Amino acid sequence: VEGAAATASAGHGGRRRHVLLFPLPYQGHINPMFRLAGVLHARGCAVTVFHTRFNGPDAARHPEYRFVPVPDGMSGAPSVAIDSVVKHILALNDACEAAFRERLAAVLAEYSRDAVTCLVADAHLLRMVEVARRLAVPTLVLRTGSAACFAGFVAYPLLCDKGYLPVQESSELDRPVRELPPYRVRDLMHMGSDGHELVCELLARAVAAVKLSSGLILNTFDALEAPELAKLRRDLAVPVFDIGPLHKFSPAAGGSLLRENRSCLEWLDVQAPESVLYVSFGSLACMGGRELDETAWGIAGSGVPFLWVVRPGLVCGRAPDEPARLPEGFEAATRGRGVVVEWAPQEEVLRHRAVGGFWTHNGWNSTAESVCEGVPMLCRPHFGDQMGNARYVEHVWKVGFEVGDGGELERGTVEAAIRRLMTGSDGAEMRTRARELKMAAAECTGNAGSSELAIVRMVTHILSL
Ligand code: UDP
Ligand code: UDP
Repeated sequence: VEGAAATASAGHGGRRRHVLLFPLPYQGHINPMFRLAGVLHARGCAVTVFHTRFNGPDAARHPEYRFVPVPDGMSGAPSVAIDSVVKHILALNDACEAAFRERLAAVLAEYSRDAVTCLVADAHLLRMVEVARRLAVPTLVLRTGSAACFAGFVAYPLLCDKGYLPVQESSELDRPVRELPPYRVRDLMHMGSDGHELVCELLARAVAAVKLSSGLILNTFDALEAPELAKLRRDLAVPVFDIGPLHKFSPAAGGSLLRENRSCLEWLDVQAPESVLYVSFGSLACMGGRELDETAWGIAGSGVPFLWVVRPGLVCGRAPDEPARLPEGFEAATRGRGVVVEWAPQEEVLRHRAVGGFWTHNGWNSTAESVCEGVPMLCRPHFGDQMGNARYVEHVWKVGFEVGDGGELERGTVEAAIRRLMTGSDGAEMRTRARELKMAAAECTGNAGSSELAIVRMVTHILSL
């Protein structure tokens, strides 16, 4: 670590750049934070990663960073129900605050104060931003979702005042949100009236964290969200750095929390170009046993080759490590036509020439990765920002469509949707638009592209803090 810090200081007028990172301990938040670590490290910054015990990253994979565990004092992982994720995030903040203050003070004492440039904290870690502020450490905030989603956070109190939220009747879900087109009420982050206060608290804290900070870092890019980024720049008093898609700058992420199955890449190698449907619902979303069966039989009935990530914990209410069981007869019915794995090297899968479509839950990382690889999407959002992301996929970028409209899934619906995406004529149009977006993304991340320039601005900004 001393060595890394010394290297970072060389060539920068003796001023060391040492950046402290604190990711939220979920896969979809750890990945972009580690990609950001890669970006900063490549530009001469020494990196220290604070992390909780729950979902701690694989430190052995990153000898170039220093890791500082922060005891979270919590008994275990949250269950996968959304209200428990929200509660977990809020509780985690309080549980870590005191220990983080201690650890941060120790790091500051060890590296004389001026060597530490700033803390980059996940937007959901307001308490850590406050601690850093009290210790006079400037902070940047990484928000791992889209710009549109964060604009929704900022507008949330206003939308509540205007009566959009909380939702009282299901008929209100389709009401268009005039202030944030093309969102409908159902596309906003919401949990029904019982969880309303919790969601308000979660989003208000994220906005407060950004307002206390010296800048907002977003894993998005100009070609995808120019109007939304412009709106945020108007509404926020801090600089906004749209440096995405981060996986293009720093492919090696923090290491998955589940063991990756790489043999599926060899199977993809012998499949026809753009013939395979990749199916994955991310690291948190869960489905009922019946939905799993309908999904399986819909995939089987479509006749389309597939690579399906069935991670332990995919079925709601089971233990996180309990393997999900596919319906009897599914394997025989699809033998030779598909592969089921517990966790896939997703970036490589989406880049593979054999992959022609992605059935996704529309977590922001998955959505951005798919867009950047030019893969059109079948959308099945579950909770949080996923509905809003799916809305953009279908109605703004027009590179996919939603299956099941938030209701129960039937195998017939699944079959038809898969065929429409993989072999239908509008699926082909979506694929063409996805290719165009891929090129636009490549321009943003290329030489002097908007994202590359934003990275340069961000690093300059960090140095000036
Ligand atoms: N991912 C992966 N292998 C899988 C499934 C997901 O590597 O089999 C990665 C994916 O590339 C993405 C992250 O896990 O970077 C999931 O993040 P996302 O925001 O899409 O969803 P979340 O898990 O937060 O719901
Ligand atoms: N800005 C931006 N994106 C960037 C860098 C800057 O939108 O990548 C905007 C930002 O909103 C800010 C202004 O440009 O209001 C000045 O940026 P700078 O980084 O110089 O911020 P300062 O530290 O001067 O507030």
